[in-house]
Amino acid sequence: MPEMKPDYRPQESTKDYDTVRRTTCTNQCESGCGMKIFLKEGRIVDIMGDETHPLSRGGLCSKGTSQFQRYYDPLRVHYPQIRKSLDDPYQRVSWDEAIDFVAERLTLLRQRYGPESLAIFRTGRASMGQKVGGGRFGHFFGTPNVFGQGPICCESPGAAMNYVFGAEGFGRLMNPSPDWKNARCILMVGTEMASQEVITYRAILDAKDAGAKIIGVDTRFNSSMSKADLFLMVRNNTDTALFMAMANIIIQEQLYDKKFVDKWVYGFDEYKEACREWTPEKAERVTMVDRNLIIKAARLFASSKPAMATGCLGTAQQYNSNNTNRSIAALLALTGNIGIKGGGWNWLHNCRPPLSYGHDTHDLPEPRRPVIADNLLPWGDNSVPVIINAMLYGKPYPIRGLIWNGNHLPQFPNVTKTERALRNNLITVHLSIYPNHTYHFAHASFPIAMGMETESICHHGNNRLIQWHNKVIEYQHEHRPDLFFYAKLAQKLGFGDKFPWLTNNDTDVDEKGFTNWLLNEDHMTRGMSSFNLDPEHNPRGGIMWPAETEAEATYQDPEATLRGKWIMYREGDPYPGTDSRFPTPSGKIELASPALEKLGWDRVPRHREGSESWIANPERARKYPISLNTCRITASFHEGGHWWPWADELIPDRYIQIHPELAKILGIEDGDTVVLENDRGSIDGPAWVTEMVPPWGCWVNFGFDRYQPFHPYETVNVVIDDIIKDPVYGQIQWKSMAVRVYLKGTDGTMAASMIHDYLKKKYPNLFNDDGVLLGTYKDRNWDYEEKEPWVDPFSGAMAVAGLKTGE
Ligand code: SF4
Repeated sequence: MPEMKPDYRPQESTKDYDTVRRTTCTNQCESGCGMKIFLKEGRIVDIMGDETHPLSRGGLCSKGTSQFQRYYDPLRVHYPQIRKSLDDPYQRVSWDEAIDFVAERLTLLRQRYGPESLAIFRTGRASMGQKVGGGRFGHFFGTPNVFGQGPICCESPGAAMNYVFGAEGFGRLMNPSPDWKNARCILMVGTEMASQEVITYRAILDAKDAGAKIIGVDTRFNSSMSKADLFLMVRNNTDTALFMAMANIIIQEQLYDKKFVDKWVYGFDEYKEACREWTPEKAERVTMVDRNLIIKAARLFASSKPAMATGCLGTAQQYNSNNTNRSIAALLALTGNIGIKGGGWNWLHNCRPPLSYGHDTHDLPEPRRPVIADNLLPWGDNSVPVIINAMLYGKPYPIRGLIWNGNHLPQFPNVTKTERALRNNLITVHLSIYPNHTYHFAHASFPIAMGMETESICHHGNNRLIQWHNKVIEYQHEHRPDLFFYAKLAQKLGFGDKFPWLTNNDTDVDEKGFTNWLLNEDHMTRGMSSFNLDPEHNPRGGIMWPAETEAEATYQDPEATLRGKWIMYREGDPYPGTDSRFPTPSGKIELASPALEKLGWDRVPRHREGSESWIANPERARKYPISLNTCRITASFHEGGHWWPWADELIPDRYIQIHPELAKILGIEDGDTVVLENDRGSIDGPAWVTEMVPPWGCWVNFGFDRYQPFHPYETVNVVIDDIIKDPVYGQIQWKSMAVRVYLKGTDGTMAASMIHDYLKKKYPNLFNDDGVLLGTYKDRNWDYEEKEPWVDPFSGAMAVAGLKTGE
């Protein structure tokens, strides 16, 4: 490992402390910073960055340094609570009483509806106890409906890469961020990493300092894009057209790497033909990006080897998610930028190893009913809305029980509909940190220990990294880890032997033993353990997966600053567990995918208009003429941030960004209260009048809910559709919903009409289909009607009945 640069000075606390512990920042983002925790008599008095950590190099973002407020937050949920109905107040009970209550309802649920009627959800920020423990519990309970966060987060790109490059599970990040400084060009798409993944963004700055040119592509200008040498503001959901146009230029101008393509690319001729229609002129009309910028970006990318691509949610949360990501991968493949230093498809978040719920779950009989799913992929997470509909309408079969963590509810699409659906449940359990929106729609709440109160691994998906976080402080109040909940509940339901990790007379749980068990269950992580990961007695920074043996969990390259596999898909280096560089059916990078074609999707990428664009739905555009984009910024990472004061102060308000031209038409001044709405819901908040958004779009930061203590705002997700989504993976279209914005107190219909007419005059192409494909909209067939209203046997409350989707 190279010597650490001298400017990473050891940081010394000025506080009165008696102990320093080293650990890893958990579950606040995917950067995975190293931390030094200063303690006095077992209590945190200071938090600083670990200067010996190869990624964070002593840096922490505001969420890292302020985390002591998170642990000692008096607003946290401190003890178990239950209630018979959502209309009753919670009652404080003991852990055993609360477990008895849940077990009783789950037993009733199993008798009445079958075990498949229980769904278990995890967030990306969940502990291993929730991710693996929850999944394992679900399998032994007998439900296939164990769901990850993927479709409401950003796993679709990883799923697309599985088909392009070949991988076990999700196609994963290739080159770690310390390698990015070797790139001469970085294509940075659909991300606000400077705000959300603060420390990882330093890798972009390092590359820029070393001379790399940055091509930024986003629907909105943001702090990350401010460092771009070329910035392409693309119309929502049209990235596929943009990247196919760039590919067309690269191919037509013979700028591609012919040798690499001949040897390693499958489907080149088909892709070349598919791209041919995307001339710069047509691409400009569809994407709203100037044709000269498209040409410039294509030439810059193709002539700057090595070049890499990175990005995040912007490429995921759209109808074209699968094809957008395949078309980005195609740019890398055409230019031979795979498996080399400074190259690679290096996506944020999308590099978690496969999760195993235990080999013994494979011996279980098949559940009586299959997992509820409506996406094309037969593997990976299933789309979220199917659960909403199964709870609300009981189709294709009822879901009447739910266990989830974090703050899922305001992060779901169509939140009002989800709230109605939750009212139908016999039992909803919230594994609580805060009394947030989700907590208020549960029957049982358990006080969950987190981060430094627990010990286990954390995945840091920006670098294919697994790190260890240490238990630094004792549990407070009645907090216990998620795993404790599942172990106690399994014991009560008669399969406690599958959770042999309870300790101290069943008052605690052995998280270290559990984590070593799960690392050993999957061949991709078998070379790791608490012993070689713990930052207190190992080189900092954890180990990059895959590491099938301990021997692989070492520095594998002279340049490596992290242990483990440094660069994926190198020539002569077979993909783990295979004898092929690219473990696709053809053994090559597949720009044409027979496997996706077999699933009913596009053999080669194509652009399709999303469900709520002006072209796809002109009638809707009259009522809701602006395209909404949402994303989180620093404080708003899942349920954190807004519950502790220092982080909340950074982003106290949920802004509605609109362009100055629209503001002028509507008589809106910066800071005025404006309404944003469509037929699903409505929010209001301060206007931020700015050219960061285009005239046809607006932007809202998410991560708020109406139960937050300091700045409660309704979640923007009340306006998001739950039905039409990326058909392959089920990714929700958070980046392209049709809405209208107007000054509060004025007429929304009139405002919509004024905006529509203005945009139509100024941008006729926005309303011109020009022969582009529309989305398939097959999911609109979800037209359920509840024939037999559900009656809650405990409260007698009638379920909402007779609703149809799309209401
Ligand atoms: S950048 Fe991410 S990992 Fe680092 S301190 Fe901030 S939240 Fe934690």
